[in-house]
Amino acid sequence: MRTDDDSWDIVTSVGSTALFVAAARALEAQKPEPLAVDPYAELFCRAVGGRWADLLDDRAPDHKLQATFGSYFVSFQGARTRYFDNYFRVAADSGARQVVILAAGLDSRAYRLAWPDGTVVYELDKPQVLEFKRMTLAGQGATPTADRREIAVDLRDDWPRALRDNGFDPARPSVWLAEGLMLYLPAAAQERVFTGIDMLACSGSHTAIEDAMPIDEKVFRECLEAERASEVNEVFFQLIYNERCAPADEWFTAHGWKATGIRLTEYLSAVGHPIDPSTPEAGPMIGAISLVSAVKR
Ligand code: SAM
Repeated sequence: MRTDDDSWDIVTSVGSTALFVAAARALEAQKPEPLAVDPYAELFCRAVGGRWADLLDDRAPDHKLQATFGSYFVSFQGARTRYFDNYFRVAADSGARQVVILAAGLDSRAYRLAWPDGTVVYELDKPQVLEFKRMTLAGQGATPTADRREIAVDLRDDWPRALRDNGFDPARPSVWLAEGLMLYLPAAAQERVFTGIDMLACSGSHTAIEDAMPIDEKVFRECLEAERASEVNEVFFQLIYNERCAPADEWFTAHGWKATGIRLTEYLSAVGHPIDPSTPEAGPMIGAISLVSAVKR
């Protein structure tokens, strides 16, 4: 299904995964006590319409969010949003004013977090994904809370150069995020992302990674087959590589960063939503995810 130079927009292939995590954030925000509130997530789903909007109104109970990812997928996304929102607050308090969101998708943090004056948020993703976000939010009168700069690039290409060409200064501290990205890259490209971050980040910089260990090969194949046989016209397992270059905390520790990681299941327990990853409702991914953050020494 994937090729080395494949491409997409917001409703196709890997682009549509930005919509399904936005849909989960919108559903989390509807809960009485949400783990995180992204007020823009719903706008994106409604702008696309069809089944993405139906999902928010609970008219598509068999939608892949539950059918493929398990009934805890919404809590999973709420928890990861909360973890990385907190990470950004701490990193901004440290004085860094350059923020780089790799595979930004429909991440709305450049519009919804209270960034200190002078913060530049670089968002890297495919051109049509970034354009959809900008146009949708502009149409609703939303304005960024920082100097938001789009870098339309494929993260398998020379993105460090594109970043520098757009004003990024490696001599000043920076704050990085790769959320919902690693799964969609082969192991060699994952390592190039880590190397690119390390190369451009000076001492005192922060990075955060949503790390996914490969799921059991037999389970992976079963998921692929179920997906191919399914009537649901969306894919996930056909889009991921199920590879990992290295555990992110170990890679960054070995390259001079102070890294800490927490399993998603542990974090869910810590925020009051314990999930047993071995139950079918958890889906195949929840037990594979860790949330990692690191500071460069
Ligand atoms: N980080 C966002 C979030 O958590 O809401 C989006 C995550 S979404 C699951 C995956 C995103 O990765 C999509 O927006 C997709 O376009 C982007 N992406 C994946 N591979 C990419 C690549 N090679 N180059 C640029 N963007 C990529």
